[in-house]
Amino acid sequence: MNRMNAPYPTPDSQNPLLAEWTGPYGLPPFAGATPERLRSAFDAALAAHRAEIDAIAADPAPPSFANTIEALEMSGRALDRVASLFFVLAGADTSDAIEAVERDVSPLLARHSNALYLNRTLFARIADLHARRGALGLSPEQARVLDRYHTRFVRAGAALDQTAQERLAAINERLASLGTQFGQNVLADEKAYALLLDEADLAGLPDFARHAARAAAQERGAPDKFAITLARSSCETFLQFSARRDLREKVFQAWISRGDNGGATDNRAIIAEMVALRAERARLLGFETFADYRLDDQMAKTPAAARNLLDEVWRRARAKAKVEGDALQQLVAEEGGNFALAPWDWRYYAEKRRKAEFDLDEAELKPYFQLDKMIEAAFETARRLFGLTFVPVAVPLYHNDARAWDVKNEAGNHVGLFIGDYFARSSKHSGAWKTSLRDQEKLAGDIRPIVVNVCNFSKPAPGEPALLSFDDARTLFHEFGHALHALLSNVTYPLLAGTAVSSDFVELPSQLYEHWLEVPEILRKYARHYRTGAPMPSALLDRLLATRTFNQGFATVEYTACALIDLEVHGLREPAGLDVGAFERRELERIRMPAEIVMRHRLPHFQHLFSGGGYAAGYYSYMWSEVLDADAFEAFAETGDPFNPAVARRLRDFIFGAGNLRDPAEAYTAFRGRLPTVDALLKKRGLDDAVPA
Ligand SMILES: [Zn+2]
Repeated sequence: MNRMNAPYPTPDSQNPLLAEWTGPYGLPPFAGATPERLRSAFDAALAAHRAEIDAIAADPAPPSFANTIEALEMSGRALDRVASLFFVLAGADTSDAIEAVERDVSPLLARHSNALYLNRTLFARIADLHARRGALGLSPEQARVLDRYHTRFVRAGAALDQTAQERLAAINERLASLGTQFGQNVLADEKAYALLLDEADLAGLPDFARHAARAAAQERGAPDKFAITLARSSCETFLQFSARRDLREKVFQAWISRGDNGGATDNRAIIAEMVALRAERARLLGFETFADYRLDDQMAKTPAAARNLLDEVWRRARAKAKVEGDALQQLVAEEGGNFALAPWDWRYYAEKRRKAEFDLDEAELKPYFQLDKMIEAAFETARRLFGLTFVPVAVPLYHNDARAWDVKNEAGNHVGLFIGDYFARSSKHSGAWKTSLRDQEKLAGDIRPIVVNVCNFSKPAPGEPALLSFDDARTLFHEFGHALHALLSNVTYPLLAGTAVSSDFVELPSQLYEHWLEVPEILRKYARHYRTGAPMPSALLDRLLATRTFNQGFATVEYTACALIDLEVHGLREPAGLDVGAFERRELERIRMPAEIVMRHRLPHFQHLFSGGGYAAGYYSYMWSEVLDADAFEAFAETGDPFNPAVARRLRDFIFGAGNLRDPAEAYTAFRGRLPTVDALLKKRGLDDAVPA
């Protein structure tokens, strides 16, 4: 695009971001998505949606499903487009200007959502329909949509008096701003840090880690150095391999101090304020604590149900971690080390033990996990389970590293577009996620989804292949499971599409999908050496699969501590004036956190809880979903065929294709014939034989 031809700003009516997207496969005009245009498109789209909502509320005709619920489902289309495009960019290709827009619009979006969900005239129509829902002649899907709207409005405070509503609205806006600031602070701390090393400091690091460190240094303008950054793939690899205990400690401290460094990017005051505001909101809505409020609309239903599961797992995980820690301490002693195992030692000695016991190390494995082959493996699994094929297409995207595939079904028809954006860069937030540019629906025509997977794998040096760790490959399968949940969605109403399910159910498709990475016939075919093309030797494959439960005490403790602390901090009745640091220390002591293990996400950078509210009082969801995924994969295992067509059909009908058509417990029961038990999870993690002290 030649910007010289536009001497004055484009007027809003010509803002290309407001129109229907007409790019290939319905893609948005990425090239026109400048921060200025995005900012002004938000204003116009918000105004348009406000006008639509007002018209629905003021309709003189008596409420009907069509003039109220379907009208709401058809409204806000421009806003959906602008917001979905914007948040893809804000997550995966941000800049100072995009961050400024994000800070600007997040309170506007919160205010807008308040105006919708606290609109009393509109709620009166929904409540009227809900009261006589049995007499409206609705299809099961329509009844579900009506019920979900009613629940959402009630939970947002539509039935409260005006004073309470005004306070609620103020709380929501403030929470939105705080959440944005929280995430930006974490990113700022991550960007600010790089440990620049010389060749002599790299003892223990395998080639792939050296290459990645070299590339990271080049990106930071220090081409003759090696940089360790706070991207998980960089610092975790360093902690696993670096023989330099002093440097491991440095990196580890920087990693766990994100958001906890004092100064402008410190998140502790933000957390205290967010927790207090959430508790106040819950009380306004008639719940004792935020956790009670949050869990009420989840599959778990109560904090007690979630805590029961976590406690059961926690006792066994601690016992297992004790055994693992003792073995690592033994290893330290055997090497003549005269120190107590510290958190920055665990990964390093665990890697040594893995090598000693299974004769298996990451460096030996990594050449077999090429990014492109793992993408193919994920696609092949989708073909065998669901009949999908993926054809690469060259289309303009938002960044050169992003790639797109046309997804087709057995009949060769277009199912959706899949975009994979796999490499870490400094303009990308950390972590891995699935997001959508467009969701599936049939209300406004046969709308096909456009789904994005974002990861943070180390980018290889030019000319080198991209190699993954086994964990990276699992992340790839995980996010691809979310993507399939969106791609296979087969519903009429957008409200129920794809991943729009409760957050303790949404990880079922993604975590279930991880199981197929470990299916030997998939590994045999796709885990091939990047130089020779030879398949992974079967002895190595056997050893890899034998390590599945290795170090699971550690991993389970690292995770479950986070889930327990999340429920505690959001279960506080009077959180005003919370001292975040003291609270975290006290709670870890109470649950008897092993000294050698640190929470996977400490509160000051726990983005699941505070960067937006998605997983607040909901981090237990991963474990809850894992109970489901372990039990669900057993359904295949019981048949002796990991691709059993009959089981795959039910999986598609009731889980992957079914969005939020049913209550999650009903959906699961329809797939499995019963509710899940915890047994498969304990077995999967190797905790079934751990004896709690
Ligand atoms: Zn996930």
